[in-house]
Amino acid sequence: MFKLCILTLFIAHSLGAQISEALEHNTQLTNYAELTRIVKDLDSDSRFTVTEAGKSGEGRSLWLIRISDPMRTAKWRVFFYAQQHGNEPAGKEALIYLAKAIQENPKLLGRGIELWLMPMVNPDGAERDQRRNAVDADLNRDHMILEQPETQALHKTFRAILPHLAIDCHEFARDSDDYMEKGWIEWTEIMMDFANYPLLDDALVIEGAGLVNRVGKAMLKQGVHFQRYFVGGVPPDGEQRYSAPDMDGGLNGAAIYGGLSFIIEGGVYRKDNEDNHDLPKRVNNYTRLLLEVLKDKKIRRQTLALLNRQTKPELPIWIPNNYFWAKSSEATLNIPVIDSQTQNVMQIPAPNFMPDLVIKKSVSRPQAYLIQPEHAAVFSELLQQHAIPFDVIQQPATYQIQYCLLDTVEMEFDDLYHRYGGRVISSMQAVESHRVEAGSLFVPVDMKNGLRAMAILEPTQMFGLYQYPTYFKLVASDRRLPVVRLIK
Ligand SMILES: [Zn+2]
Repeated sequence: MFKLCILTLFIAHSLGAQISEALEHNTQLTNYAELTRIVKDLDSDSRFTVTEAGKSGEGRSLWLIRISDPMRTAKWRVFFYAQQHGNEPAGKEALIYLAKAIQENPKLLGRGIELWLMPMVNPDGAERDQRRNAVDADLNRDHMILEQPETQALHKTFRAILPHLAIDCHEFARDSDDYMEKGWIEWTEIMMDFANYPLLDDALVIEGAGLVNRVGKAMLKQGVHFQRYFVGGVPPDGEQRYSAPDMDGGLNGAAIYGGLSFIIEGGVYRKDNEDNHDLPKRVNNYTRLLLEVLKDKKIRRQTLALLNRQTKPELPIWIPNNYFWAKSSEATLNIPVIDSQTQNVMQIPAPNFMPDLVIKKSVSRPQAYLIQPEHAAVFSELLQQHAIPFDVIQQPATYQIQYCLLDTVEMEFDDLYHRYGGRVISSMQAVESHRVEAGSLFVPVDMKNGLRAMAILEPTQMFGLYQYPTYFKLVASDRRLPVVRLIK
């Protein structure tokens, strides 16, 4: 036992040194052609399997790397994916580094882990050094509508692997204009958060919170400025809150398949517009954090116990459809920042930090959703992309149903409250007896797919389908939404 601990310590220590050394002089970004060469090389190693998970809009391969544990008895499936945003490269570099490091030292991948990596989800954006893909779509806002080939391939991969734990890798600017105007640089070097969509299983959400807490402490111990991921304005006046509890990003888009899901946001300090002078440090931080996640045995043990539990959780009877971040305690919080002149760390009080997700309104779970025949084509495509099963009604039948009306969609970003646009405000009509026409789609809300059906289709959802042009177009002139709630 004692010997084992020494060995683990030695590996951990030498790896830290190894990472720093390997990255110290390497500030070069890996482009698509180089990544393709690297994955072909990895594929020739028997423990690595490289496949094409799909193609980007411009036909580039979306490479997926599978690394088996040496004993090939893996029970814990982990999936790291990076660069949905093409101009956020550190996660990709860390995944490539991790794959090569495991090739050199197989023991780095603990026993019982099967690791899957997709380093470059958006190669077209990466080649242009831009956030969006080739047709100017933000892939990390496409997880509900799945209109882009890259996110379609990513979701096929989620369903093929069904990872117990997935991480979406991003970056943010530590020297945003808002902070620099105050003479500050953001203190945080790396952040992480867990999936928080209100329909997710509470027990799994609590496990996610536990992991973020543990790996965060480990990073702070290594001297890396870590915080739980939050967004929003500059303290003390701005409002800050944790990541968006919506379905349209990878964080919650992956979680709805039933495993744990996380986001990492690495911090970029551009300094004189030299984008990548700090790349080695960013990749270093990223790699260390990913290794902390892989090392955490508690999350494996507890999550597997939850997923294998005898009594499965029932479908929620309520669908939260109006929720917001708020403050439910009087505890004050200071946000550390770095003075850009002196490099000193200062603590700024943050009276508008909103740490608690409050559910303001819910609707009852319907038995099924119906889609009117004139919208069947668009919705059958959507349901197929999500692999949510549905039937086409052959004979007209009478059901108790509820129509929903669209009141408004708040399209603009709200500067005052720093809230994203796209909030859908809708109202539910009374239950009525209605003859449903042949050709309507019938989507059951059952144990197997019900959670995903509710997450995608619920017409009263606050950040639902109608924030997107494809679905906004389908709203009738009398404001009726195309998805109808079937009560009985
Ligand atoms: Zn991003």
